[in-house]
Amino acid sequence: MKLGMMRSTFLLLVLAISWQAQAAKPNVVILATGGTIAGSAESQTQAGYTSGQVGVDVLINAVPQIQELADISGEQVANVGSQDMSDAIWLKLAARVNALLAKSDVDGIVITHGTDTLEETSYFLNLVVNSDKPVVMTAAMRPSTALSADGPLNIYNAVAVAADPKAAKRGVLVVANDDIHGARSFTKTSTTDVQTFRSIEYGLVGVSLYGKNRWFRAPFRKHTKASDFSVKGVDKLPRVDVIYITADTSPDLIEAAVGNGAKGIVTAGVGNGNMTGPALAAVKKAIKAGVVVVRSSRVTSGSVGRNVEVNDDEVGTVASAELNPSRARVLLKLALLKTRDPATIQQYFYSH
Ligand code: ASP
Repeated sequence: MKLGMMRSTFLLLVLAISWQAQAAKPNVVILATGGTIAGSAESQTQAGYTSGQVGVDVLINAVPQIQELADISGEQVANVGSQDMSDAIWLKLAARVNALLAKSDVDGIVITHGTDTLEETSYFLNLVVNSDKPVVMTAAMRPSTALSADGPLNIYNAVAVAADPKAAKRGVLVVANDDIHGARSFTKTSTTDVQTFRSIEYGLVGVSLYGKNRWFRAPFRKHTKASDFSVKGVDKLPRVDVIYITADTSPDLIEAAVGNGAKGIVTAGVGNGNMTGPALAAVKKAIKAGVVVVRSSRVTSGSVGRNVEVNDDEVGTVASAELNPSRARVLLKLALLKTRDPATIQQYFYSH
């Protein structure tokens, strides 16, 4: 081969390889919903700030390094502090996630969100997303304008997880402070600490260190494609109230929930989902009126078992197993779209 020909063959080869490398980049869509990660304050050091101020473009432009990991596009689904997360936003978000994941040119999704109700939104999506592709939620404890804001690295790691084929089939994941959590199993443990999320009972699904992922486990309960739930065509979720139980709880809180139209009640009980005698009497009345009652616990770990100190078989209550009150509320809302039978709902609590 002549030297000139060899040179051009070599050039073509280099071009083909670099074109392939470019074409191999996955497509990741970032859906922004607000939260502290999009929050801003007047100074870099003040504690007070407003959540959900900064748009998705600003979040993306703050981390140009994510363009090396994936081809990125962004959409603003909402811009609220997650204390204002609602059924309406959940339904809109679920519809958008499912529509995007159905497209062959979308490989994964990152959702930015507030930390306050991330447990609920991630578990909701874990039950209603109908795809095996990665869905990764992230958040931040410090607003985007703070010194040492934690949002940018969390977004970088979240994109690295969403772009990783190994993230598929693990349900909705939550990436924060280098940790990868399963949507069912983490808890916000501190009001202010950057290391707020902990997967106390089951451990982490993995870790992401500057975008290098290491995987430890796959969540084993039914989720995403295997879930029994769907919100396709649903425009309203049934009302489910959580009643926090204390010593000497006022049973009229339970009566008020029923009177105001709750279709389901979750008790955030003491210990193994226990409650005062008068509260239990109000629960029995609620069940007679057709309301489904799930006993959960205000304790941060362990599970609520059937027929331990409350005879669920006799009373007609459902035991929440490992689901804390906020997640139990999500599952009960979805279960009530299908049935009011406590035995069937109990099985959902064991399997999801
Ligand atoms: N209140 C904020 C929110 O949940 C807190 C945070 O994001 O850290 O939107």
